[in-house]
Amino acid sequence: SGRIEGKVALVTGAASGLGDAIVRRFVAEGANVVAADIDEEAGRALAEDLGNAASFLSLDVTKEDRWVNAFAAMEVVHGRCDVLVNCAGITTIGNVESCSLEAFKHELDVDLAGVFLGCKHVVPLMKKHGGSVINIASMASMKAADYLVAYNAAKAGVTHMTKSIALHYAHSGYQMRCNSVHPGVIRTPILDKVLEQSDDPDKLYAQWVASHPIGRIGRPDEVAALCLYLASDESSFATGAEFVLDGGSSL
Ligand code: NAD
Repeated sequence: SGRIEGKVALVTGAASGLGDAIVRRFVAEGANVVAADIDEEAGRALAEDLGNAASFLSLDVTKEDRWVNAFAAMEVVHGRCDVLVNCAGITTIGNVESCSLEAFKHELDVDLAGVFLGCKHVVPLMKKHGGSVINIASMASMKAADYLVAYNAAKAGVTHMTKSIALHYAHSGYQMRCNSVHPGVIRTPILDKVLEQSDDPDKLYAQWVASHPIGRIGRPDEVAALCLYLASDESSFATGAEFVLDGGSSL
């Protein structure tokens, strides 16, 4: 049997990149997964591909009422939620001069407030059985880049907010854990968007590779493997921790 056999998980940002890889690995390890995203076409295609083990849910993580409805539906269908992976995210390109206030606020809305809402509204359902919340932050929460001012702020926010939430979950006696995951550069569609907006994509890509002492960028399945550990009971003593997975890039 799988390492998370019978667990029920909700994964946001499931329609692409890391979220897609996490959903596939969780299903392969026996979980029942709700794959949530704003991209309905790609989300439905993923769920279809995986058959009954995954169902698609249209969810914009910035909309509080959608989160409330999502967990209410999970309560009806599954009666529980053991794992929440907050993986939906955007990458706003811009430095402190070029980034508009509007773009800055939108980045914080999706990447920080979106995670807050998931951590908040999963509580009523998860506290009954306990569970694990996994927030996908980034190596960018530790290591700044001039062209990522809003993203750096959002991911640093997720990191410290995760610790506050982990303390609350623990002090409340809920048997709920909350950890952050910090990937280095991983080959996903988000990268292509960043490269497209760069003045010199070849140079930027070479810089990414060079900034990882291990000599390459990462793969989505490597992030999914860490999330699997955090979703499973093997990580039962881990909470409020930063799990760095970056080929040495933050060293
Ligand atoms: P991606 O662009 O391939 O996937 C992101 C997904 O999030 C998309 O399917 C998109 O539709 C969804 N999404 C965007 N806004 C949403 C919203 N408001 N509500 C619901 N879904 C929404 O990106 P990825 O590389 O898979 O990134 C996933 C997460 O990992 C992000 O939080 C990102 O910051 C983080 N991350 C990625 C890397 C990397 O190098 N790829 C590195 C570190 C951290």
